[in-house]
Amino acid sequence: MNEPLRSIKVLISVVYWVLFLSWRDALGWAGLLRRPRCVVLLYHGVQRGEREQFEWQMRLLLKVARPVRLDSGGRLENTSKHAPGGGRPLSGLGVAVTFDDGFVSVAENALEVLARLNIPAVIFMPVASMGKTPGWCAGPDSDKRIMTEEQLKALPADLISIASHSITHPHLPEVDSDTLIWEMTHSRERLEAMTGKPVRLFSYPFGEWSSREERAAREAGYEKTFTIEPVPSLLDAGSPVGRVCVEPGDGPIEFRLKLLGAYRWMPWASLLKRVLKKNAAALFGRQEQALLDGKVTRTASDG
Ligand SMILES: [Zn+2]
Repeated sequence: MNEPLRSIKVLISVVYWVLFLSWRDALGWAGLLRRPRCVVLLYHGVQRGEREQFEWQMRLLLKVARPVRLDSGGRLENTSKHAPGGGRPLSGLGVAVTFDDGFVSVAENALEVLARLNIPAVIFMPVASMGKTPGWCAGPDSDKRIMTEEQLKALPADLISIASHSITHPHLPEVDSDTLIWEMTHSRERLEAMTGKPVRLFSYPFGEWSSREERAAREAGYEKTFTIEPVPSLLDAGSPVGRVCVEPGDGPIEFRLKLLGAYRWMPWASLLKRVLKKNAAALFGRQEQALLDGKVTRTASDG
């Protein structure tokens, strides 16, 4: 991400946290908020050189929140009492860790940290790309290989839940209904056959979804779906569940703010941008049309 933009986002998130979230945390401390919040983190890969940063982030997670299992029927399951530095959480904040795309680098570099700190995670797998480097995320300097079936089966089932990220990682709103159902149903069946466990969670490729995709997910047997909008949720509040994109390279302030849910203003900013863009297009479109009309009128009168 470009650095000035990143700094602006951090700055807005600080203001947002001070204005809107710190009072909520204070209420949580005072025991006045009954329903705990949950922030779901979305990672992709964790490279060899990022192990230490990833461990620092996971240790911070244990300090400020409770790790949450997403496959426990939506209940906030506290695992922190088993973890070093665990114990009573500082607030009513739960944090869940997810990885999209099932990169080998997660098994090689993140798994050991998660196991040592006893932090559960969900890996969303794009089934047809297993064992390959897919086209949608090829990068010049990082390892983008996706796990094979054997590597998937070797993951500790008590810590890592396997979930679906479709078969071919398409732009789902653009595919026809039969393909949509196949992407969702077939990926669930394939992953269940590989792991011997029910697959109940689905993350939308590119975070793209609409009400049609939500209906299809229910019909295909999923309990929850996941997007890439950084909206913290109450886990029992239904689907889709928002997630905030994080990277091991996120700075200490940036990661802390994401962990606390302070990036939840971003969907509103995107909405505002879309509305402004649409209105600007409509306005300029009208002006352009008026100019064209003027030209035509002039041309007609010239003729
Ligand atoms: Zn993906």
